[in-house]
Amino acid sequence: AAMRDTRTVKTKTVCTFCGVGCSFEVWTKDRKILKVQPSHDAPVNAISTCVKGKFGWDFVNSEERITTPLIRKDGAFVEASWDEALDLVASKLGGIKEQYGKGSVGFISSSKITNEENYVIQKMARQIFETNNVDNCSRYCQSPATDGLFRTVGMGGDAGTIKDIAKAGLVIIVGANPAEGHPVLATRVKRAHKYHGQKLIVADLRKNEMAERSDIFISPKQGTDQVWLMAVTKYMIDQGWHDQKFIEENVHFFDDFNTVLEKYTLDYAEKHTGIKRDTLVEIAEMIRDADGTCVLWGMGVTQNTGGSDTSAAISNLLLATGNYRREGAGAYPLRGHNNVQGACDQGTLPGWLPGYQHVTDDVARAKYEKAYGVTIDSTPGLDNIQMLHSIDEGKMRAMYLVGEDMALVDSNANHVHDILSKLDFFVVQDIFLSRTAQYADVILPGVPSLEKNGTFTNTERRVQRLYQALPELGNAKQDWWITQEIANRLGANWSYSHPSEIMAEMASLSPLFAGATYDNLEGWNSFLWGSHSGESTPLLYVDGFNFPDKKARFALSDWSKPVEFPEEYDLHINNGRMLEHFHEGNMTNKSKGIQSKVPEIFVEVSPQLAEERGIQDGSLVRLVSPYGAVKLNALVTDRVKANELFLPMNSVDKDSAINFLTGPAMDARTHTPAYKQTMVRMEVIRVD
Ligand code: SF4
Repeated sequence: AAMRDTRTVKTKTVCTFCGVGCSFEVWTKDRKILKVQPSHDAPVNAISTCVKGKFGWDFVNSEERITTPLIRKDGAFVEASWDEALDLVASKLGGIKEQYGKGSVGFISSSKITNEENYVIQKMARQIFETNNVDNCSRYCQSPATDGLFRTVGMGGDAGTIKDIAKAGLVIIVGANPAEGHPVLATRVKRAHKYHGQKLIVADLRKNEMAERSDIFISPKQGTDQVWLMAVTKYMIDQGWHDQKFIEENVHFFDDFNTVLEKYTLDYAEKHTGIKRDTLVEIAEMIRDADGTCVLWGMGVTQNTGGSDTSAAISNLLLATGNYRREGAGAYPLRGHNNVQGACDQGTLPGWLPGYQHVTDDVARAKYEKAYGVTIDSTPGLDNIQMLHSIDEGKMRAMYLVGEDMALVDSNANHVHDILSKLDFFVVQDIFLSRTAQYADVILPGVPSLEKNGTFTNTERRVQRLYQALPELGNAKQDWWITQEIANRLGANWSYSHPSEIMAEMASLSPLFAGATYDNLEGWNSFLWGSHSGESTPLLYVDGFNFPDKKARFALSDWSKPVEFPEEYDLHINNGRMLEHFHEGNMTNKSKGIQSKVPEIFVEVSPQLAEERGIQDGSLVRLVSPYGAVKLNALVTDRVKANELFLPMNSVDKDSAINFLTGPAMDARTHTPAYKQTMVRMEVIRVD
């Protein structure tokens, strides 16, 4: 009989939760996770982790894991062999493409799986199904930030490293709560602010921990960040506090930009944002006096009808003040999931081939056409939201979705549920029976990060290796293997035997990733994308901005007002993360330690509103929007003010999940839902 290894094994991995990208060794014995050990060698976090990275891993041993393929028969899921499930998936998806044409199958990839796994999913869409209908969950969070940056500086990534943020004289955080959403990154700001004289400005609807620590905290009216950003930019230009030399050398359209800015006076800003003009002047002075300004932003900016334009306004402000091309300055969109950056990098986007080569670019397309042996459509495919419309219209008939809980994280969830039930054939690949998987015809069990080899790319564009720490649970399989098996049953001839071979193929087709070889990524080594020379690039734009003439562009977008709701919906509801939980909670809800710390969901209510409505901590309230209703206990806290409510996003329960309230409004340029523009009315069900 084979010897059983009873020693403790230490394996280097990368955190599966947020986009900070902490790495550490996980100590295991059989399937037991003994501890998580960070290291001075870890490039992002050194010896730090947050509570999720340290204690949030036991979900991998949850009894709720799916460990064998499931096929729906007569309405119920029954266990199947891999051959039976894969044969069925291939014949059904292939048959639907045959019958209804190239656009009839859609692909949703995941920010929880590796770069290599994302790459093969977009390859399957483009090579086997000849469609660009492939997208990932950045559509729900960060697409507007990427769009705003592409328009202004030509690349979507963070301008520098996380460590560089500590070098800034001033950090401005807009619509984000890194103390809970990106804890280890926030620690760097907290330290620089407390001990090294860094200034901190926070703009948020909620007085979160970073707001408590800030030098200036502003709480502009919902959907008006673009206005104060433009007003501060205009004021600085009017005062001559902009960087004329930097603009002349580096940026186009300054005159046109000034024309757009004309109406954004301090009075105009005060009227629309509610922020006093004196405070805006103070902000402008702080930027003027700072040796380097970094702006960090999150979903409080992006999940709005003006999400892209507000992101562009942030970049405009940084360009006008010369805050790019140096350490401790620049734009830092905070990516949410650990590999949302990587999912986009690998081309699981309807308009982009891997390595940000656009499908309309004839040269790039020709390269992939040669490699894949097919013709690639020169028009972008459908994004997540458009795919749902297409299903609703009966055009898209089937979907292959990996690791994404669309039925919970897309806005207007009741509507999404109706649509998913219309699919002729739905394949879901996941580790748990998610809310979305309940609509599946076949469920294919993939594996979590501790059971795989591969790479993840964090918010600062850093590609890092993870090594397999645990064997696959039960009959679950590597996600890239599953995709390959489906592709090969449809006539592909893929023969990847290790993720390194997938990365090598991707790197050979993407100049941006030419240096991302497994040799360069061994152990604690990492690679930051940013140049086309194969060099690791901690700081972007050193040789100029990412346009043919190396010059940036001011985006010329005006502000438009947020969506209006009927008067009866008198309370604004915001949503976001909690420190202990991650996103919709599919993983952390199954971690006993985390769950015991924060077992319940609640809605935050301001003391003023609580008094007006006669409620207290623990009162049961019903919140009703035009799109649905939820029922929750109230938590009275001065983190929120007046008619503001806040609902953490980590509920998988129909009675309390935020997206049973959110509606169809979206950012016009990227179709990211305007989750943050949701109004409700509140009914008190029980006071105590
Ligand atoms: Fe994981 Fe993010 Fe926490 Fe780091 S900060 S341990 S990456 S969840």
